[in-house]
Amino acid sequence: MLSREEILEVLSEYDLKDLSIATLGSHTALHILKGAKEEGLRSVVVCEEGRTTPYERLGVADEIIVVESFQDMLDEEVQERLRELNAIVVPHGSFVAYVGLDGIENEFCVPMFGNRRLLRWESERYLERKLLERAGVKVPKVFDSPEDIDRPVIVKFPGARGGRGYFICSDSEEFEEKAERLIEDGVIDEEDLEQAHIEEYVVGTNFCVHYFRSVVEDTVEVLGMDRRYETNIDGLVRMPASDQLEAGLEPSYVISGNIPVVVRESLLVQLYEMGDRVVRASEDIEEPGFIGPFCLQTLCTENLEFYVFELSARIDGGTNVTFLPYAYLKFGEIVTMGRRIAKEVREARDKGLLEDVVT
Ligand code: AMP
Repeated sequence: MLSREEILEVLSEYDLKDLSIATLGSHTALHILKGAKEEGLRSVVVCEEGRTTPYERLGVADEIIVVESFQDMLDEEVQERLRELNAIVVPHGSFVAYVGLDGIENEFCVPMFGNRRLLRWESERYLERKLLERAGVKVPKVFDSPEDIDRPVIVKFPGARGGRGYFICSDSEEFEEKAERLIEDGVIDEEDLEQAHIEEYVVGTNFCVHYFRSVVEDTVEVLGMDRRYETNIDGLVRMPASDQLEAGLEPSYVISGNIPVVVRESLLVQLYEMGDRVVRASEDIEEPGFIGPFCLQTLCTENLEFYVFELSARIDGGTNVTFLPYAYLKFGEIVTMGRRIAKEVREARDKGLLEDVVT
């Protein structure tokens, strides 16, 4: 495990007047890079060969480091170049997926914005739940075994396939039936089935809430929210029910996009409270807790209660909707999550607090 001292040692060599914000070229890189430029910092993207076009055409990157494969982010040469550029690296979902948690914790010796030790807490379901339960926010009930199913549940599988193979059922027979069909169709295998996560299906509206824990301002901000656009479920529900039955199609919940959404104003109080609680829980778990962006994926029931079914311990893909209404209300201009990050880095530097926002 890389120690705090090792990272601070690297930071102490940096020319703070010449900082860069760097990230991997995927996920939310566009507005992370743009935000850096808007705040007067250099923007650097590490990009796989053949994937540089958006960064070039949109002119958001001051420097593009081209690598053969994203895994090369860990190469000493790439790390050295990032350190030469006085880079603060912003981790996002694809960064975590390609570099890997072990790589981030043990090998990636470049200062990162945020708390790198909390990234593991979103990627393992039992850790994620532990954090949410410690925070005291509402979470869907989990069923340890199919025999216990006594209400509609959603069955999830691990791994990189996203929401493919997820299914809904209401009792153990339906569970067996649907699982068998998915195995026959080759969508899941026996091993997946053993690791199935069975969770109460919460009927409600989806809000993925984008928070920012500011160390400089010592506050937790709600900046905006999105709802997910998932294939094929969002297409499936456009079919009349009779045709759905006829077609015999299985749903999947693979994210393909994000839709901006706002919440009823009177519900905002609840969202702030949830954010505060989650930050306090994160402090108990891994000092100094969340730094910068995190996201709670929620469902709002007819009783107007929010259930958190997932957490992102870093910038969430839904921030790509760009216009975050509460960020506008706070800052009086369009501030993307990328820009909010760059602003925090710049202000932390100017106030001598940079050590408190990187790990
Ligand atoms: P996840 O892989 O946990 O992000 O879930 C993918 C999608 O499945 C979500 O965006 C929702 O559309 C749906 N979903 C997940 N958990 C639940 C739940 N407990 N109740 C209802 N829908 C859910």
